Amino acid sequence: MQKYTYSGGCLCGAIRFEAIGPALKPHTCSCKMCQRHSGALTTAWVEFPKEAVTWVGENGTPSTYRSSDYSSRAFCATCGSSLGAIDDDPTVALLLGVFDKPNHKELKPTTHSYRTTRPKWWNLEIS
Ligand SMILES: [Zn+2]
Ligand SMILES: [Zn+2]
Repeated sequence: MQKYTYSGGCLCGAIRFEAIGPALKPHTCSCKMCQRHSGALTTAWVEFPKEAVTWVGENGTPSTYRSSDYSSRAFCATCGSSLGAIDDDPTVALLLGVFDKPNHKELKPTTHSYRTTRPKWWNLEIS
């Protein structure tokens, strides 16, 4: 099977990535940490093994902020874009909003974490 290579990057373009599929665990999350990290009420995520992700932009790997015992949030120090999370496990989680082409079927979220943390008026339907 042909492996699909995803690409994406931050607002200013200094941080760019290429990630070799398959994209794992596509899900949305409305936890408070994701909300603060992204500024969005709900974020959409996919995960890749660390070795499947290459940082190809001029600024190399993103800056990180230690956000929990097992993970750091990744962002661009130049433009401030949220990019994802780099875990201590060999896993890189990327936010779907920074993908060049987030319309790929494999990226469609299948679960919603911390659904109850969102405001009640914020409905999220995946169809
Ligand atoms: Zn940037
Ligand atoms: Zn979250």
